[in-house]
Amino acid sequence: MAELDQKMAAQEQAHELKVHESLRGLSEREMIAMQAAKLAQGEGGGAAWAQVLVSGEAQKEKEQRLADELRHGAEVKDLLLKQASSVQGLMQAQLDRMEALAKQAMSATAEQQRSSGAAALYERSMDSMSRVAASRAEPTPVAAQVSVVPPATDGAASTQSCKSCSAPLRAGARFCAACGSAQTP
Ligand SMILES: [Zn+2]
Repeated sequence: MAELDQKMAAQEQAHELKVHESLRGLSEREMIAMQAAKLAQGEGGGAAWAQVLVSGEAQKEKEQRLADELRHGAEVKDLLLKQASSVQGLMQAQLDRMEALAKQAMSATAEQQRSSGAAALYERSMDSMSRVAASRAEPTPVAAQVSVVPPATDGAASTQSCKSCSAPLRAGARFCAACGSAQTP
């Protein structure tokens, strides 16, 4: 029995040596593949290999998730920066618009004041013009007196009248003051 054990141990050692020998000069990937093959060959090897694969996948997934999270974080940061700048831009645009509106309102008020001033001036000038026109249209007392009651220098004047229009004539007048026709005494 002891001999058999010793023999088996020796065989195992030899096998191990052979494996080590075969592994020498292999790349890491090839060594993993060899180990995987060895695991698959052993008892419950398939499950063990599956476990290795799963853990590898899990590791890869974890790394992927971490990378995703990092990328996501970067994306979020980028998005926040973009949003912040767009908000800033929006606020700037809003401020610009408000300033423009304020300027517009101010200029409109100034314009209104100017135009109301102009309107007041126009009204004043129209008022004075209409007053002038009214004063011109109104017959002055003197003019009314002249036109309505022609002055009579003496009583004899009232007895003479124009031969053409019968308007009263001044004494010794050679022309009618009303129609201009020549008068012969
Ligand atoms: Zn006359």
